Amino acid sequence: MKCPFCGELDNKVIDSRLSKDGTVIRRRRECLACTRRFTTYEHIEEIPIMIVKKDGRREPFYREKVRAGMQRACEKRNISMNVIEECIDELERDLRESGKKEIPSSRLGEWVMDALHRMDDVAYVRFASVYREFKDVNDFVSELKRLLSAEKEQAGVKG
Ligand SMILES: [Zn+2]
Repeated sequence: MKCPFCGELDNKVIDSRLSKDGTVIRRRRECLACTRRFTTYEHIEEIPIMIVKKDGRREPFYREKVRAGMQRACEKRNISMNVIEECIDELERDLRESGKKEIPSSRLGEWVMDALHRMDDVAYVRFASVYREFKDVNDFVSELKRLLSAEKEQAGVKG
């Protein structure tokens, strides 16, 4: 492990700590050349979760792909990257805790839609329109109506 200050390769570990969930080891190191200290993190290599597509093909679950889809839907909306990131953290945690090794892509899509729905209606509709591949404008309009009536109900409860 190269010292970030002087580039020396030799160092000693002065402290090791396991994260609460047991997946990350944090090591405090001291450079043998310049004696400065730095921290390294070791992540346990996780078994990939496979996403099963409609045609039966499988591909590993990639955060980057989910993030890209959500970012596209959230473009120019008032949603920070942190919120999106936390959302994907939550998803990944749920997936791993479920113990399932394979998830249908449709479930992943539904999950992202739900998450976006809670954040922002515009982002939700954008994502849904791509994801659900609305066959015609009527499908899209009926989805919008459903959305708007749900909002009215919510407003009614508040008022
Ligand atoms: Zn050094």
